[in-house]
Amino acid sequence: MKVCKFGGTSMASAESIRKVADIINADAERRFVVVSAPGKRDSNDIKITDSLYASFAMKNAEDSYQLFDAVVNRYLDLVKELEIDIDIMSTINVYRAKLTTSDRADSIVAMGEHLSAMILASVLKWDFVDARQLIKFDTKGNFNSEYTNDICGKVLSKYDHAVIPGFYGQSPSGRTKVFSRGGSDITGAIVARAMGADIYENWTDVSGCFVADPRVVKNPKVIRYMSYSELRELSYMGASVLHPDSVFPVRIAKIPINIRNTFSPEDAGTMIVDKVTEHDRLVTGIAGKKNFTSILVEKDKMNSEVGFTRRLLSVLEQYDISFEHLPSGIDTMTVVISDSEIKGRIDDVVKDIREAVGPDYIEVQDNLALIATVGHGMSYKPGTAARLFSALSRYGINIRMIDQGSSEMNIILAVRNEDFDRTVNAIYEEFIN
Ligand code: ASP
Repeated sequence: MKVCKFGGTSMASAESIRKVADIINADAERRFVVVSAPGKRDSNDIKITDSLYASFAMKNAEDSYQLFDAVVNRYLDLVKELEIDIDIMSTINVYRAKLTTSDRADSIVAMGEHLSAMILASVLKWDFVDARQLIKFDTKGNFNSEYTNDICGKVLSKYDHAVIPGFYGQSPSGRTKVFSRGGSDITGAIVARAMGADIYENWTDVSGCFVADPRVVKNPKVIRYMSYSELRELSYMGASVLHPDSVFPVRIAKIPINIRNTFSPEDAGTMIVDKVTEHDRLVTGIAGKKNFTSILVEKDKMNSEVGFTRRLLSVLEQYDISFEHLPSGIDTMTVVISDSEIKGRIDDVVKDIREAVGPDYIEVQDNLALIATVGHGMSYKPGTAARLFSALSRYGINIRMIDQGSSEMNIILAVRNEDFDRTVNAIYEEFIN
């Protein structure tokens, strides 16, 4: 049995929803379907979820209703164009009533997925099951995975087929709670685990995960197979294929994820599995992010000073700053932090670090980009790092920092922001072309 998730572009228009229905009807194994809210129909369009967040955030109630009603019209048009007989107005009115009274956006933005699922269920003539019955959060707002797995399995086993809205669930007080953006991928993975699916198909608008970002590398290859851990590393480092947290539920049950393209269903896409057995390919993917700052702290005999790292990191904790990397030498340690975390606070943080650890020297570097070269194959083959560094030196790229994860499947380099594209292309040329 297959659990499928269709993303925002697949649900964006009547035409694409018909394609979705054709894909589902082409395979009797596709029995449980999770959907996102309608996305952009073209590059100038706005995603429904974005409009709903914006309508909630508006200070003026009149503007708020105006934007909300524009969303409603998009749904009414879909119902008309798909020629389905379904009452969506009573559901819409429940959300509309909360628009100016609710203190949290969650209770409004969930409408995006809710109506999307009602519409697809009506097109397929399948049951609609509300995600509030299935996806449960705890009182602190954290996803309650084991309770959800249990209840989701119990509820859905009563259905032969069902369409389920992604992205949202319910807190113990009965309020609607959403995952972080892109969270329908997580819902799909949760349903796949709860139903013991043979495969979790994640239908998007691209034919799989690319080895590198197509905006940076021209016509990059599609990754045919990758492991859950490679996906985690790549998506954490900016590859925007799947929500990084969607791996957890399926990994427990070792259910493969297949990324497919709704607009090119014959393409095999990318298979994400527990273990990739062929290691002829050294590098699986390259991903990266810009705008980081590093703080280099130097102190003689740092390595023998008990509690040094704790004192250094407790400064970051006081500022509620999370860091990305912590490469260290015998007398040096560098903390790499995203600019979004440390913006406007760097001088205070440096001052407090001086007080906390009494360093001999501190140096701050900004304008850094991090680039991860990821692949299990790298740990099987000596000389991979040497190839990587000599490729960059041929391109005249100065490496500011190197960090190799202990799993040996990931080498992270820091370069200047302006060297980002050239670095990714240099690595691609060396290992993939
Ligand atoms: N509609 C939500 C978002 O735009 C969730 C999703 O698409 O997965 O983030």
